[in-house]
Order: sequence, then structure tokens, then C-alpha cells
Amino acid sequence: MAEVHQVLGGGTFLTRSLDPQDLFTREDLTDEQRLFGQTAAEFMRNEVVPNEASLYAHDWSKTRELLKKAAELDLLRLEIPAAYGGLGLDKISAAYVGEHIAINPSFGGSLGAHTSIGTLPIVYFGTDDQKARYLPRLASAEMIGAYALTEPHSGSDALSARTTARLTADGKHYVLNGQKAWITNGGFADVFTVFAKVDGEKFTAFIVERSMGVQSGADEKKLGLDGSSTTVLMLDNVFVPVENVLGVIGEGHKVAFNILNLGRVKLGARNIAGAKQALNQSVKYAKERRQFGKAICEFGLVKQKLAEMTVRCFVGEAMVYRALGDVDKALEGVDEADGVKVLKTIERFAVECSINKVATSEALAYVVDEAVQVFGGNGYSREFPVERAYRDARITRIYEGTNEINRLIIPTRLLKNRSVLGTDTPARAGGDPTLASEHHLLARAKRLAIASLTAASQVYGDTVREEQEVMAHIANIIIDAYAVESAIGRAEKLGARGSDKASIAGDVARVYASDATDRVAHAGKQVANAIAAHTTTSDGLMAALEGVTSHRGYDTVSARRRIGDAVIAAGRYPF
Ligand SMILES: Cc1cc2nc3c(=O)[nH]c(=O)nc-3n(C[C@H](O)[C@H](O)[C@H](O)COP(=O)(O)OP(=O)(O)OC[C@H]3O[C@@H](n4cnc5c(N)ncnc54)[C@H](O)[C@@H]3O)c2cc1C
Repeated sequence: MAEVHQVLGGGTFLTRSLDPQDLFTREDLTDEQRLFGQTAAEFMRNEVVPNEASLYAHDWSKTRELLKKAAELDLLRLEIPAAYGGLGLDKISAAYVGEHIAINPSFGGSLGAHTSIGTLPIVYFGTDDQKARYLPRLASAEMIGAYALTEPHSGSDALSARTTARLTADGKHYVLNGQKAWITNGGFADVFTVFAKVDGEKFTAFIVERSMGVQSGADEKKLGLDGSSTTVLMLDNVFVPVENVLGVIGEGHKVAFNILNLGRVKLGARNIAGAKQALNQSVKYAKERRQFGKAICEFGLVKQKLAEMTVRCFVGEAMVYRALGDVDKALEGVDEADGVKVLKTIERFAVECSINKVATSEALAYVVDEAVQVFGGNGYSREFPVERAYRDARITRIYEGTNEINRLIIPTRLLKNRSVLGTDTPARAGGDPTLASEHHLLARAKRLAIASLTAASQVYGDTVREEQEVMAHIANIIIDAYAVESAIGRAEKLGARGSDKASIAGDVARVYASDATDRVAHAGKQVANAIAAHTTTSDGLMAALEGVTSHRGYDTVSARRRIGDAVIAAGRYPF
């Protein structure tokens, strides 16, 4: 097992072929994991959904009351170690619960900010004393947590924060001054992880209680997430005891960035849950709504939309649970109390975390947009649910690192460790023979990804990071390679189990692989042409490009009709 752990993560999927038996899929959830999901689903149905209007009216006492009820059901203590009143559960369980909470993205945002970015910095970086002081109270919702990194002048460039921390003459306190912006739960949270620069230089995290003098601004008037509190925070001579420095002075960047990695995959599970909800609403509507004497779901163009929405959900789910399964496998045997070790292990998956963040937020954007289209004029009305889903979805491409920043992270990380450069990847032999062509397409996409990275590194050298457009095209190839492989693997696993969904899953994998090959060919051409403007073309890259541009395509029209028919027959997402 230890050997497997060493090779997983860090984009190594580009150089190995995936054995479906090593792939965790949503179908592999254990009964215990399902039980937590069921508890979360019932809580949402019975407690949150009936109170949605109060949340949209900014009644934050109701949010607190609901968080308290969630705590009573153990939903706030999943990732807190047992020694501090938590359950110390695996990441799959936490993400699966998040999926169910995400049916209301506003409340999901409040709960997620509390349990993830509001609590995990203390779980991973806190001293024993800090954990004992705060974690039990965060687990019980006696205290609500939040995370304050962003400032009016520093978002993506988080390390340029202007908030300062000055040690008092008696050495007992740091005095914090500055302003934070866009803080989820800002209007009512009790404890904040605040980032500030000691002596105006050393970027450092602090645990700051509201009672130490934090003031909140008014709730932002937002495009979506109307039922969650987002405010600025004013820090005006806030005295924070030195015991509340979180982690090491000058190493706040480790707290700031490591917390985001896993959050990105868990956000992926929430994104796909939102997409599935919009798909389900669309199928129902399309079966009921009649035009030209027929239910609109019978029209090829509507059926095609329902099919493609299904494809994006299936593939997104396959990617997210694959990454979560790999992270949990790597964490086996790591002491959960050793926060730094846990985070180091998760950090190895930074590439996969960014891949998932970008892919699932864009899948969600696609699905909610098509949901509005399926609803026609009613999709544009606040009387129907997809209008809110459309607005709520937009933030997922902006927070947890914008998609631009996450796209840049993917090749940057791979170029840094260099282990994939100049390598090759074989097509996997065996497996489902009906997906043999897709395995070949996958191998070609991976080859193109590696050849693009290698050529870009050779041509641009150290200045490659300045070539953002080229880097983003390479990221797109890598994202699609991971997506295709995850989709094929999930379909094969369903087939091996003799599932009655295997045939449709195969169609989904074939449609996605065919379209993805055209997309990676487009991206590969952009990379090759950009490079050709600087130097003679790279032979390796041109050969790899040939492999994808020669793709003849697949009858996706018929396959989408079959997928659409399956969705319509099921009346919902069929997996
Ligand atoms: C509803 C909501 C909730 C939020 N919750 C929290 C929270 O709880 N805690 C918290 O700390 N923050 C929170 N945020 C802030 C969020 O994380 C930031 O908005 C995000 O990181 C982007 O920063 P910015 O808004 O300053 O945009 P900017 O960084 O100014 O970016 C603007 C545009 O420029 C692009 N860009 C920036 N730098 C680069 C670059 N180097 N290369 C290429 N393109 C670049 C970006 O991708 C983006 O398209 C929240 C935001 C919202 C809207």
C-alpha cells in the first residue's frame, strides 16, 4: 500500500494508466458513508428548505439555529479529530455530506465556510491548547467560524495583504489593523482565521474572536447566495493574545493555501450536486411542458441538452470521487492529529484539486445555463427554481482561487516537479473492449499534454509562467485527460458489476471522449502555433498533435439520443 501512496497525485495520472479497481466511484460509497449523507439530506429537507425564506431575508439568527441543529446531528464535527470532540471521518464522507447540504447553496455556503475554511485551519495548524479551546465549541456550533484572507486590494494576490499585526511592548498581544473583504459568515461569525503581516512583512495567521473588537460591515448585495452573509470586516486596533498566533509567524501562506486544496475537491462534490438538482428540475419540466402538441423533451434539441447535462454530471462526479478516493487512500496510516503531515499528503494532490475545481464549476455553469434554456421564459422568472440556481452557481468560478489562477496552478506545479516531462503513456490493454477506442483517445490526449508541457518548458524556459495563454491551453488538455480517464474508469466499473446503467455510462464515456479529443486538438494547435512563432516546431509536439487531429469522431447524435431517452425514462439523473 505504501508504494501506491508514493506514486499517486501530483499529476502522475498522465504517465500511468488507471486500473478501474484503483478508482473510487460514487457507487463504491459504504453504508456508513451513505448514512451520513442520508442524515444530511433529511436535515435539509425537514429543517432548511422550509426556512429558506428566512435565510433569503437575512435572518442570521435562523442560520445560527440551523447550524446548531446540524451540530446536534454531528454534521459539523465530521473532520474534527476524535480527541477534540470530532468524528475524524474520511474526506469522502465529508464531501458526500456536502453534496446533500449543497441543495441550498446559500446555507451550504454558510455551513461549508464554518466546517471547512472556518474550522480546518485550527484542526491542521492549531496547537493542542488552541484545538482544545476552539474545536469542541466549533463542533457544537456554540461558536461559528469564518476565514478572512481577502482584502479590498488583495484577492488572487493574497500575499499582498495590507492588514498589519504589531507586537505590544509587553509582548502579550498583537494589535491588528486593516480591512478584510467578502467574508462568508462575516455578519455573525464568532471566530475568524485572520491573515495579517507582522511588522508589515511576515504574513501570519491569527485566531481572532469577534469579542476582541472585530466589526462587520453591512451584508453585500450579491448576484447570488442571497441567503448567506458576506461582509467586510474592520480590524481597528484589535488586541489578539500571542497565544492565538496560528502556525508559525511568517508562514501564513502555508495556512492560506493548503486549506484551499482539499476545499476545491469538496467544492467539486457540491458543484455537481447543484448541477444534478438543476438537471432533475429540467427533466421534470421538459416532460410536463408541451409545445406543438408534444412534451418538449421529445424534441431532439431539448433531449440533447438533457443528455449533455447528464454527461457533465456523470463525468464531474467520476472526477471528484476519484480524487477523494485517492486522497483518502494516501491518508491511510497518517496520524490525523498530525495536521502538518495530513496537509503535506493532501498537498501532493494540488494538481488534481485544481483540475476538479475548474472542471466542476464549469460543468455547473453549463448545466444551470442550459436549465434556464429548457425552462424558456419561465427559466428567467423568480417563480421558478433555475433562475436562483443560475445566479448561485456563478460564484464557484471565482472563489477558492479563480479558475484562471487554478488553470495556471496545474501546469506550473507539473513543470516544477518535472517528473512527467519527456515521458510517454501507453494505452491500457484489456478493459471493456467497447471502450477500446476511448482508451486510445485518452492515451493520445495524455501524450499531447506531456508533449505540450515538455515543448513549452524547452522553448520558454524560466519565462514559461509569463505565457499564461499557452499555460491555460495546456491546463485544458490536462483537465480533459483526467476527465476522460475518470469517465471511462467509472463506466468500466459499472460494466464489471453488471449494472443496468453500464450501457448508458458507456455512451456517456464515448460522447465525452470524442468531444474532449476535439477540444484537446484545438488546444494543442494553439500551443503548437504559439511555440512555432518563437522557434522551429517541436517534433514531439507535432507528432502528439497528429494523434488527436486524426480523430474521425463518433456518432454522438445517436449516443446523446440514447442518453436523453434514459434520463427522460428515469425522470431524473439516471446514475
Ligand atoms: C460570495 C463570496 C464569498 C467569498 N468568501 C470569502 C471568504 O469567506 N473568505 C475570503 O477570504 N474570501 C472570500 N471571498 C473572496 C474570493 O476568494 C475572491 O473574490 C477571489 O479570490 C478573487 O479575488 P478578487 O475578487 O480580488 O479578484 P482579483 O484577484 O482582482 O481578480 C480579478 C480577475 O483577474 C484575474 N487575475 C488575477 N490575478 C491574475 C493572474 N495572476 N493571472 C491571471 N489572471 C489573474 C482573476 O482570475 C479574475 O478574473 C468571497 C468572494 C465572494 C464573491
